[in-house]
Amino acid sequence: MAPIRIAIVGVGKIARDQHVPSIRGNRDFELVATASRHGSVDGIPSFPDIESLLGGVKDLDAVALCMPPGPRHAAAVKALAAGKHVLLEKPPGATVSELDDLIASAKAEKVSLFATWHSRHAAGVAKAKAWLASRTVRSLRVDWKEDVRKWHPGQAWIWEPGGFGVFDPGINALSIVTEILPMPIFLTSATLLFPKNRAQPIAADLVFADSAGADRVSATFDWRQTGPQTWDIRVVTDEGELLLQSGGAKLFIRGELVVDEGDVEYADIYRRFAELIAKRESDVDLRPLRHVADAFMVGRHDFTDPFED
Ligand code: NAP
Repeated sequence: MAPIRIAIVGVGKIARDQHVPSIRGNRDFELVATASRHGSVDGIPSFPDIESLLGGVKDLDAVALCMPPGPRHAAAVKALAAGKHVLLEKPPGATVSELDDLIASAKAEKVSLFATWHSRHAAGVAKAKAWLASRTVRSLRVDWKEDVRKWHPGQAWIWEPGGFGVFDPGINALSIVTEILPMPIFLTSATLLFPKNRAQPIAADLVFADSAGADRVSATFDWRQTGPQTWDIRVVTDEGELLLQSGGAKLFIRGELVVDEGDVEYADIYRRFAELIAKRESDVDLRPLRHVADAFMVGRHDFTDPFED
């Protein structure tokens, strides 16, 4: 079968670090163009915006939208209307409602819409989900603590309305939690800590209950961690403890290391995108985005020292 002719829109850090090598490493895809105001990829035709891309590339099948969440909906609307399959980086949008619009549009155009959650593709996540499926969860604790200066240097958009602040990494943890837990959860309380000079939080504490009413799940997201970085999810069950570390790349069950693999996330994302396109199916799970929206709705807003890059 001919490869899927794909273009990347928004050539920044994640496009360069992950999408370009993952597309090039997958024989089901051919990277045929990019659209970005400043960024480009050596040897690949580049366009300044999505309109000129859609008008200028013959037989384009799909686009990967790798810009920040704010401008993503407008680009997705245009790509779907042009009959292209669409991959959305996470978070899939700046609001929950705009995703309903895209889901309807993908259905009407009979193309695939894939809202990716890259952390769900980490090596330990599927096995963690399978192990938890037959156990009773007593509690789950997330510690997602990293250094914003190391991972997001100079990314002004991330501090602006719609940029998500510390929920930009925190939503990755929530994407794993919603994938592995055998029961639904909902937010009961939250505290969001905003630097006095920023529109988005630098830290957050969240508490979730299950439908029995017990506060079983808690999470701390913090962007002020220097030194070793922490991306841990610890689950206590009736049959012992499960620990996902390094963002899901390592899995310990009852203290024994059972998965320890390198970075497999984006290779698996493109495997899944090809599978969805072959079946003309979509995959859009909004639970992580809803939990973040809930945190902004019910969360108490506290303020801390100004933050400078
Ligand atoms: P980035 O380095 O800032 O790159 C995003 C690119 O999008 C920019 O270089 C810019 O390229 C383009 N863009 C289009 N409209 C924009 C706007 N209004 N404001 C800013 N840039 C705009 O960001 P990133 O780290 O690649 O993150 C992009 C998305 O990927 C985010 O949703 C993020 O959560 C997700 N992601 C990031 C990482 C990571 O490690 N960085 C990991 C996984 C997922 P032009 O100026 O050329 O148009």
